[in-house]
Amino acid sequence: MRRTLEDYRNIVGDDVIYKIYHLSRGLCGKSLVHINSTYYGGGVAEILSALVPLMNDVGLSAGWRILRGTPDFFNITKKFHNALQGDTIHLTKIKKQLYMQANEDFSTYSHIDHDCIIIHDPQPLPLINFYKKRQPWIWRIHIDLSHPDTKLWNYLKKFILKFDVIILSHEDYRRPDIPVEQVIIHPAIDPLSTKNMDVSDKTISKTLKKFDIPTDKPIISQVSRFDKWKDQEGLIEIYHLVRKKIDCRLVLCGSMATDDPESQQYYERIKRKANNLIKSKDIILITSENNILVNALQRRSSVVIQKSLREGFALTVTEALWKSKPVIASDIGGIPLQIKDGENGFLLDPEDYEGFADRILRLLKNPKLAAKLGEAGREVVKKKFLITRLLTDYLNLLQKLLIK
Ligand code: UDP
Repeated sequence: MRRTLEDYRNIVGDDVIYKIYHLSRGLCGKSLVHINSTYYGGGVAEILSALVPLMNDVGLSAGWRILRGTPDFFNITKKFHNALQGDTIHLTKIKKQLYMQANEDFSTYSHIDHDCIIIHDPQPLPLINFYKKRQPWIWRIHIDLSHPDTKLWNYLKKFILKFDVIILSHEDYRRPDIPVEQVIIHPAIDPLSTKNMDVSDKTISKTLKKFDIPTDKPIISQVSRFDKWKDQEGLIEIYHLVRKKIDCRLVLCGSMATDDPESQQYYERIKRKANNLIKSKDIILITSENNILVNALQRRSSVVIQKSLREGFALTVTEALWKSKPVIASDIGGIPLQIKDGENGFLLDPEDYEGFADRILRLLKNPKLAAKLGEAGREVVKKKFLITRLLTDYLNLLQKLLIK
């Protein structure tokens, strides 16, 4: 069902809603378009599906387009994604050509005459070369940019320098080597979406039953695309340590994004690694994209884990905190923006398997502590990471760019 800003008033209060109406007044009728490369799977699609309708509700004319690409194109852009997060890449002429080609093709059938263009992540970055630039262009990069591969970064600069503003998720991702204005906007979740809305115990039980997830033992879960950076492999090792002390079940829920060709391969690897435990249903792997399942799974979990090696922000952490769940996560990327160790969850070095196991056991043994951390987590999200705050940040930026 279509949501309006008014629907959020009960959660965030009158002042927040008034401020948004006030900010949007001068922007009424201004048009903008978001361009990214997938409708589902991953944080960008999650944010856009909540943000774009709300932008329209407050009077902007906001669109959302998807860059089409061949499997080759997505293979290359996934390598770019990895290299921007610190991997090395062999940047060949053919890679550059295929990268440019998908962007040029898009420009031949997709007209843009909006007042502002917002490009998400590296896939549609070269579009700026194929249009006559008549308006501000924003590059919204969602990943950890603190250690990009130098050659790739230097190549991408030929597009980046043409942008008016870059939006990053974290102060630490600022690039001192580019003169383009850089602003920090933290991602956010939609508390009313199917994934995050309140649901009854009955619905939770029914949903888990439908997906064949038994609830006779405590559940530990991680919701993440199957991806080496999400390190489901490491989490399985940790699960082995935990199971020596307490019997519990590990559920790994990860859909495959259309712009991520590596996910199937990684999924197969995890399946092989957990083979026997999958047979005994101690480890459950789920690959369906289903919002109510994510909601039910996070709510029924005793502990939620985010054992990532890189993470631009980690909306999955926000989603679990909103559900008052204790989260144990790697102390990397955007996660410490959301979790203060010992206050609303636990933070650990991603290599500290014993530490992860210890915190999981502590929470499984002490539901009072789990509830206390969980409650604190929900308050953090309410203050800082709801979609209304994200909308406010965008409106402030658009005011600066579009109202002379
Ligand atoms: N997600 C989902 N189903 C899955 C795996 C992930 O709906 O099986 C969603 C998850 O709930 C979150 C987003 O995808 O909303 C992941 O965003 P995050 O910032 O955590 O990571 P990204 O995938 O963007 O690296």
